[in-house]
Amino acid sequence: MTIETVKQILHPFRRILENMGAVPERWDVIPWDSDEWERLNAEGIEVEQWEVITAPETGHLEWHGHIVVLYIKEVYGDPRSYRFHLTECSTLKGMKTRGLGYRYVVTRQRDPFFKIRIQDEYGYWRDARTILLVCKNCLRNINYMNYNIQSNKIKNEIQKNFRIHEYLQWMEKKVGL
Ligand SMILES: [Zn+2]
Repeated sequence: MTIETVKQILHPFRRILENMGAVPERWDVIPWDSDEWERLNAEGIEVEQWEVITAPETGHLEWHGHIVVLYIKEVYGDPRSYRFHLTECSTLKGMKTRGLGYRYVVTRQRDPFFKIRIQDEYGYWRDARTILLVCKNCLRNINYMNYNIQSNKIKNEIQKNFRIHEYLQWMEKKVGL
């Protein structure tokens, strides 16, 4: 049994205990006033994929007890073809299966620019900041703004106008955080 599986199993119980007023540290939740929390809400934190869990009821991604979005730090070629993710969608599952040691970042940033590293055609890496769109598979999995029943035109608009902080508020309300 992997740590990830254990975390998945424990997830519903964590909420019950938190509601009872149990100590959250026991569940490895980072405190609201810590440096990590600040970084999570600013540029994000590099993590291993197994550290990020899928909430069983809604399918959203959580890291140390907080709802997050996730993206790949290192990109090849045009960064605009990359997406950030809300769920463990088919794209992320595929990456896990290939297991190529991708570097993942979890974030709750308001800033639309993501800190990435780009490899150019000569193989050199450089740091960059870029706008990324949200993944459409994830919008479908989570049915954000009734995504699944919308026309293609509206679906494109939901993707284009997606704001991380609005999504976080919406999901926190949904799960009662
Ligand atoms: Zn996705």
